[in-house]
Amino acid sequence: MTAQLIDGKAIAASLRQQIAQRVTERHQQGLRAPGLAVILVGSDPASQVYVAHKRKDCEEVGFVSRAHDLPASTTQEELLALIDQLNADTQIDGILVQLPLPAHLDASQLLERIRPDKDVDGFHPFNIGRLAQRMPLLRPCTPKGIMTLLHSTGADLHGLHAVIVGASNIVGRPMALELLLVTHRFTKDLASHVAQADIVVVAVGKPGLVKGEWIKQGAIVIDVGINRQADGKLVGDVDFTSAAQRAAWITPVPGGVGPMTRACLLENTLHAAEQLHN
Ligand code: NAP
Repeated sequence: MTAQLIDGKAIAASLRQQIAQRVTERHQQGLRAPGLAVILVGSDPASQVYVAHKRKDCEEVGFVSRAHDLPASTTQEELLALIDQLNADTQIDGILVQLPLPAHLDASQLLERIRPDKDVDGFHPFNIGRLAQRMPLLRPCTPKGIMTLLHSTGADLHGLHAVIVGASNIVGRPMALELLLVTHRFTKDLASHVAQADIVVVAVGKPGLVKGEWIKQGAIVIDVGINRQADGKLVGDVDFTSAAQRAAWITPVPGGVGPMTRACLLENTLHAAEQLHN
C-alpha cells in the first residue's frame, strides 16, 4: 500500500475531545450542557447500533442525551406531536429522527416538522437550501465530516477535480453542494469520470463498485459505503487494496467516514446550543 490512511477514527476522537472541553467551559460559565434528542422507531438492528453509538458519544462529551425509543406501530400524528414538544423544549438543541422509518410513516413530513435550528442532521429543506446558497446554518453530518477529512490531508482543494459517485439526499447531493460535482447511476462510463478525479467520494452501498485501476495516481479517495459481507466483515464501495496502491490518501472502512459523521453530529449540536439557542 502506498496511500496514506486518512484516520477518521483519530480525527473524530480529537474533535470529540475539543467538544467535551467546550462543554466543561460552558458549565464554568454557568451555561447548560447542549441537549440532543434521538428518536428511534421500531427495532431495525443497524439503526439500534447507530443510535446506541450516538448516545454513547453524547455521554462522552457531556451532552444531555434524550432517548425516545418507540414501537414500530407509532403513528405519524404521535411522532409529529413528539417533534412539536421537542421543538419547544429549551433544554434540547438538536432533534434527530433515525432513518429508515417503518414504511407507514412519512419521513419527509417528519423531517420538515423539525425546527431548522434544531435539525442537527441538516436534512431539512431549509438547511439544504442554505447550503446550496453558500450560507449554511446546520450542514449534513457525513459531507461535513468528509470536508474535515479532506482538509486534514493538507491538500489545497481549490480547483481540484472532484467526482462523487452516488446521489442520495443524505450523502451524495449535499456532498455535491460542498464540492460542486456529482455522478449517478445514469452517468455514462463511470470509470472515465473517476479516472480524471483528484478527489473521489463514493457513497453508493455496493462493495467493490469502484476499482483500484480507475483511481488517478495521487488522488484523495473517500469511501462512504458500508457493506457487511457474509463473513460479518465491513467493507466500503471502493476496492481498498488496489486503490491504496494508486491514491495519495484514502479512508478505511471501518474507521474513516463513519466516526466523523458521528463527531459532526456532536459538533452541530454544540453549534446549535452556542450560536442558535443562547
Ligand atoms: P442510498 O440512499 O441507497 O443512495 C445510493 C446512491 O447511489 C443513489 O443515488 C443511487 O442512485 C446511486 N447508485 C446506485 N448504483 C450506482 C452506480 N452503479 N453508479 C453510481 N451511482 C449509483 O444510500 P446512502 O444513504 O447515500 O448510502 C450509501 C452508502 O454509504 C451505504 O453503504 C451506506 O451504508 C453508507 N453511508 C455511510 C455513512 C457513514 O457515516 N459512513 C453515512 C451514510 C451512508 P439511485 O438513487 O438512482 O438509486
